[in-house]
Amino acid sequence: MTWDFTTDPEFQAKLDWADRFVRDDVEPLDLVLPGRRFEIPSARVRSVIDPLKQRVREEGLWAAHLGPELGGKGFGQLKLALLNEILGRSEWAPVIFGTMAPDAGNAEILAHYGTDAQKATYLQPLLDGEIFSCFSMTEPHGGSDPTQFVTRGVRDGEGWVLNGEKFFSSNAKTSAFLIVMAVTDPDVPAYQGMSMFLVPTRTPGVNILRNVGHSGTPMNSGIHGWIRYEDVRLPGDSVLGGPGQAFAIAQTRLGGGRIHHAMRTIARCTQAMDMMCERVLSRTTKGTLLAEKQLVQAAIADSWIQIQQFRLLVLHTAWLIDQNSTAGARREVAACKVLCEQVLHDVAWRAMHIHGALGITNEMPLMPMIEEAAVMGLADGPTEVHKVTVARQVLRDYKANEGQFPSMWLPPRVAAARDRYADLLGPEIVDL
Ligand SMILES: Cc1cc2nc3c(=O)[nH]c(=O)nc-3n(C[C@H](O)[C@H](O)[C@H](O)COP(=O)(O)OP(=O)(O)OC[C@H]3O[C@@H](n4cnc5c(N)ncnc54)[C@H](O)[C@@H]3O)c2cc1C
Repeated sequence: MTWDFTTDPEFQAKLDWADRFVRDDVEPLDLVLPGRRFEIPSARVRSVIDPLKQRVREEGLWAAHLGPELGGKGFGQLKLALLNEILGRSEWAPVIFGTMAPDAGNAEILAHYGTDAQKATYLQPLLDGEIFSCFSMTEPHGGSDPTQFVTRGVRDGEGWVLNGEKFFSSNAKTSAFLIVMAVTDPDVPAYQGMSMFLVPTRTPGVNILRNVGHSGTPMNSGIHGWIRYEDVRLPGDSVLGGPGQAFAIAQTRLGGGRIHHAMRTIARCTQAMDMMCERVLSRTTKGTLLAEKQLVQAAIADSWIQIQQFRLLVLHTAWLIDQNSTAGARREVAACKVLCEQVLHDVAWRAMHIHGALGITNEMPLMPMIEEAAVMGLADGPTEVHKVTVARQVLRDYKANEGQFPSMWLPPRVAAARDRYADLLGPEIVDL
């Protein structure tokens, strides 16, 4: 029987290298260039990050989520999950390791569905870290329900014309190209009538109305584009994977990525946990350490238990995908997505609270984690939608009971059990 929680020594050596490299050379970037990872780097910033990227390449860990045909190592999801648990500690690490969202997911779908010409134009420079990209799907009125989308792609001779609006298109303003989801056949169900378009961001008619930012940042200085596509003319070969393929492509994009996201979230939870544990062992009040107060102990215990449960679920899900396929682990992937919000929220909130006033300040990294938890509950679909997926998948393994009472109703079960053991037990049988 194989039931093994160890990491093979060769890959563990890679993880150990990544652990040291991220701690010594990448995490400091978070402190000197905070929030700058979404910007096109200046020559001076490039002179710092390019050599770091080169070291990742030399170590064989650049864009590790890609298959060998694209320069990745084909590690499989379990190894990638373990690597992402390290990368999640630093906002710059995904840039330095070539796994930055949304570029990583966009590269995956270009690799899966792109023609040779599309790959040459868009994929190679993206893999080389030379350009940024944007995934433009959500609509202002339609949100998480793609069946509400109205952005249209209409045939125009050999080409296409795009019209519509998209919201929260991250990185639109720095992107070289956008992948835009649009209705191309309104007469069939939405799941068959939508297509993905490859649109150079400079195409006339791509109008970024606002760059929406997160709470606490100046208006219109954010990275999430509200875009109006106005008579955007595109050549005939702009459709990715062929007309009607948008949903299949979106699923490819989100599958593995969610697991990596979940492991990066575990890294954040662990950072909050570390801060909380250090704090309770350092602070005395009313004659004892915080660590000796039972309600504080409950916070420590609850946090550790939640993180362990979450981590094991994510690793098991990654293992399931490696054994079978992403589709075969839909229930588990959706459950991981739900836990990203819940566990990060709970642990970061407790850590913040236990730090007292300091916890809410801009001198501790705890409030941004609470905001991250809120983001986790929305980006890539709200928690409720993923819970629906979990519930639907769970209920597939059950069926309705035909009788008037539940199948576990005791009277008939007791009678059957009595029949089964009457000869052997006789008067020993207990009356319920
Ligand atoms: C940081 C960040 C980055 C993002 N980046 C991108 C990007 O690059 N490209 C892109 O296309 N989109 C992006 N999004 C958008 C994201 O996909 C949407 O926010 C998400 O799909 C939800 O849509 P909405 O915000 O319009 O909320 P709505 O769909 O309006 O949902 C609002 C609320 O309604 C409830 N709700 C919704 N549906 C259900 C349901 N089925 N059952 C029960 N309750 C429900 C939930 O409480 C939900 O939070 C990003 C979002 C965030 C926060």
